[in-house]
Amino acid sequence: MLLTGLILCDPETGPASVREGDLRISEGRIEALGDLRPRPGESVVSGEGLCCFPGLVVGHVHLCQTLFRNLAEGLPLLDWLRTRIWPLEAAHDPESLRISADLGLAELLRGGVTAFQSMETVHGTAEVFAAAEASGLKALIGNALMDSEDPSIPKDLRMERKRALEESEALRRAWHGKHGGRLRHAYAPRFLLSCTRPLLEEVAERSSLEGARIHTHGAEHPLEGEEVRKQYGKGAIRALEELGLLGPGTSIAHCVHLEEGERELLADRGCTILHCPTANLKLGSGIAGIAASRRAGIPVALGPDGAPCNNRLDPWMEMRQALLAASLRDGPGSLSPWDLLRMATSEAADALGFEGAGRLRPGAPADLCLVEFRDPFLGPGGDPAEKMICAGGRDLVRHVLVEGRFLLRDGRPLRGEGDPALLRDRAERALARLLGRAGFAR
Ligand SMILES: [Zn+2]
Repeated sequence: MLLTGLILCDPETGPASVREGDLRISEGRIEALGDLRPRPGESVVSGEGLCCFPGLVVGHVHLCQTLFRNLAEGLPLLDWLRTRIWPLEAAHDPESLRISADLGLAELLRGGVTAFQSMETVHGTAEVFAAAEASGLKALIGNALMDSEDPSIPKDLRMERKRALEESEALRRAWHGKHGGRLRHAYAPRFLLSCTRPLLEEVAERSSLEGARIHTHGAEHPLEGEEVRKQYGKGAIRALEELGLLGPGTSIAHCVHLEEGERELLADRGCTILHCPTANLKLGSGIAGIAASRRAGIPVALGPDGAPCNNRLDPWMEMRQALLAASLRDGPGSLSPWDLLRMATSEAADALGFEGAGRLRPGAPADLCLVEFRDPFLGPGGDPAEKMICAGGRDLVRHVLVEGRFLLRDGRPLRGEGDPALLRDRAERALARLLGRAGFAR
């Protein structure tokens, strides 16, 4: 297939390399870029007026929470979890989980996402894998591990260590590596306070034996930090290090409140930070020092976190938020739109193991996000990263392809459970039943 007349924007090579050109896809990969002529019989798609970015890679989301959007407002982290999110997650059944995931996946796709990492709830993660399978997106998914005796964890959400790890093992057997590696499993201990020490040590041991990835949260909020210090006598990152959980396959959401030396420790161990600026602002957690972390050599990926702490799953908005938050914290220009674009594409793809994705170059997977570039409100000036991150948004996303196949075409989803009217009706019914089970008013 040949896409013609595009503006090509590769985050790896930066603004100087932006140019008009065509892009040929063969066997799911980018074969060539430049001034290309159609081959006899080749299908040709006009990209006139479109800018081609690599597909976006989301580092941190909770698809199981999409149904809870707008239902957990005005609370700091621990109250948000204990009084709203955990009771709601505990009330999920397979039907509500599936629609929650379908809804989240449809929204990610609408924003130009081609790959993501999600931490799910304790039960029923097979439903989310099935939804990701149907969606066509690349997915790294983990069932949340929560075996702590903390009485604020609902009984139905807590799962003791042996059973929880058996659940992870069963998911790994069933899904890890399926569809040529499009679906993958990661161990996902929720955070230090929801897990016992033996569970965390076993996760460290298993992941090192199996070469498995670890996805967790850490150093998000000052009150969480105080509780971690009471239990471990140290900050979250040093506690994770003591438990053997830090390594190149580990990605940690937030890292807003790093103690002295913890940034260097993350850099030394090769860990990835999953930066969620909107969630950090909404829950009043703080603003992470991302410019300093990247200077220290730590890879950073971006994420919206779950819908109830954002309330959008919109990668373009998240890049803009990250830019503005960095400007407030470290000064204007401390992160550039190109930095953000790299964090949302090549840097995230490399850090999360989506091999070769996130760039426009021959041989890379043809995971692409094509956006409408004739919109007058983008402005005639500026380069593509500035235009889309600072002035544009997901409404401009026209086509999304994963490994050369259209998943979104002319703004419409082509597979999975993407029909918005159907999604809305299913979500309404499922949420009403879930709130009944949770004993919550709407
Ligand atoms: Zn999270």
